[in-house]
Amino acid sequence: MPLRTLETLGDLGGKTILVRCDFNVPLSDGVITDDGRIRASAPTINRLLTGGAAVVVISHLGRPEGAHDARYSLEPVAKRLGELLAAPVHFASDTVGPIAQRLRESLPPGEVLVLENLRFDPRETSAIGSERAEFAALLTDGVAAFVSDGFGVVHRKHASVWEAAQAVPSVAGLLVATETEVLRRLTAEPQRPYTVVLGGSKVSDKLGVIEHLLPRIDRLLIGGGMVFTFLHALGHQIGASLCEHDQLDTALTYLHRATELGVEIVLPTDVIVAGAFDADAETIVSPIDKMEDTAFGASGLGLDIGPESASTFATLIESSRTVFWNGPMGVFEMPAFAHGTRAIANALTKVHGLSVVGGGDSAAAVRTLGFDDSDFGHISTGGGASLEFLEGKSLPGLEVLGW
Ligand code: ADP
Ligand code: MG
Repeated sequence: MPLRTLETLGDLGGKTILVRCDFNVPLSDGVITDDGRIRASAPTINRLLTGGAAVVVISHLGRPEGAHDARYSLEPVAKRLGELLAAPVHFASDTVGPIAQRLRESLPPGEVLVLENLRFDPRETSAIGSERAEFAALLTDGVAAFVSDGFGVVHRKHASVWEAAQAVPSVAGLLVATETEVLRRLTAEPQRPYTVVLGGSKVSDKLGVIEHLLPRIDRLLIGGGMVFTFLHALGHQIGASLCEHDQLDTALTYLHRATELGVEIVLPTDVIVAGAFDADAETIVSPIDKMEDTAFGASGLGLDIGPESASTFATLIESSRTVFWNGPMGVFEMPAFAHGTRAIANALTKVHGLSVVGGGDSAAAVRTLGFDDSDFGHISTGGGASLEFLEGKSLPGLEVLGW
């Protein structure tokens, strides 16, 4: 079933609409370091404002554990949203308390009110349904409709995702509709060749995705920290690189399954080995089967794929019609180990077809490396949610919108 969309809400003139966003942005000393998630929901909010609605925005930020915690206030987010929108944006320093109530009641059409962090109230994430329903009733009080635009939380049965959507008429915002459509295209009717690139720190985080996507794809390229578990399982010495010893059998099982399914698995042929986990560490480019033969011996750490691998990966990516990439190829946070990730990102920008970047760190990586969101077919804002979608799990926050 398709998601219910904004169009089904009809005339918005004079109505108050509640929008659940995922404004869980990275902050450093109160300064937003990546406003991608705020930008991503601006089109939905603008559409509602243009339609003549007053818009109440709700979101969580961080993990404040059910109590007010100034470090996780949404006030900087409200301020940034005000800079991005042409409309006035107000901020309520409580969520469902007297301040929010007063500001909501007097909110004129064409203006926005951001409520304080949902997770300052323990009922938002409570395991008890009646507590969540009580909180959702307060959130939806006096609103004509609920718009779900926080794709990053659609896999959560939280009050602002699940109960709120049942309390009043509810639809998907533009972001949730787009994310869902792009991820659907990655699992159904993909154009071929279809290549998946996996990296990042842990194999165990990505098992479900490998499992679900393996039968659907043509090539699986593996890099990042997780590749060393695969390499070790194949008998390579990997020095002191990341390795999940409890996943060695699983890694081998996937390699066998891929062969049976005719999926080409591509592992790096060279690696950047560092003497220490440090931005200024000495580094050596090593063939994959000689990692412990460098000057660092068994204490060498593989922190990025090497130039030869980056070039092989890039060629395979550029010749694909569908590419999904999740997980950086190296420790991109340190410039010395960002080359592989940059090469892969650059290759994705050249894909004739659908190129999708998924995962919180991967999205942050392409932005910090200077790429623009428009360089890719799509950058998924929801890490865990996109992975669960790609694992074939049903997501409560989409189900409740008709999916
Ligand atoms: P995403 O959030 O995009 O799903 P992950 O959370 O799986 O990505 O992985 C991101 C992290 O993986 C980054 O912090 C990066 O430093 C780390 N990483 C990548 N390659 C390596 C490596 N070779 N060794 C250690 N850590 C790595
Ligand atoms: Mg991550």
